[in-house]
Amino acid sequence: MRAALFGLLLVPVLACQSPKAAPQAAPNLPQAPLATAATPAWALAHPEYHAHADCIFCRIVADQSPSRKVYEDERVLAFWDIAPRAKYHLLVIPKQHVRSLKELEELPAETRAALLTACVKVAREFGLEEGGFRVIVNSGKDANQSVFHLHFHVVGGEKLPEDAVRVKDKSDSGS
Ligand code: AMP
Repeated sequence: MRAALFGLLLVPVLACQSPKAAPQAAPNLPQAPLATAATPAWALAHPEYHAHADCIFCRIVADQSPSRKVYEDERVLAFWDIAPRAKYHLLVIPKQHVRSLKELEELPAETRAALLTACVKVAREFGLEEGGFRVIVNSGKDANQSVFHLHFHVVGGEKLPEDAVRVKDKSDSGS
């Protein structure tokens, strides 16, 4: 009787302790270094998924850093910029890691198309189509790129500064 009772108590304890099945990468596909039990199945099986553990946007893709997501599909993710510089300031990124626009050609054509399509989708989602919105891609150090995972800023919802390009007047250069 006591043995039966002990068995009854032990079964749920063992069930709680049994390790979750580790996610299995599909054969011949790159292993995703950030993969956890929470990594979605598509990411494990997706040939485009190469998460970089030291990249904040890869960590967001892998759900290992928080973000306020606004749109997601198989290829792209959109979320709020952590320090919005307009009423609406969203970032659209490819789930596949590429450093900047310079590496655009590393992305499959479908992902390149999905990026621009997602920019328009999120702008529409937030009602920015009528008033207008701006899409910005900073690429490299002269452009002050600070996160080296390609991203498109989608900003709007208010009148934006007229000139987001010029840093200083050419006459300031002394030439
Ligand atoms: P850029 O200067 O063009 O490389 O833009 C990088 C953007 O990423 C900046 O606007 C940052 O505010 C934003 N950013 C950095 N870290 C995060 C994060 N964890 N979540 C959301 N946005 C971020």
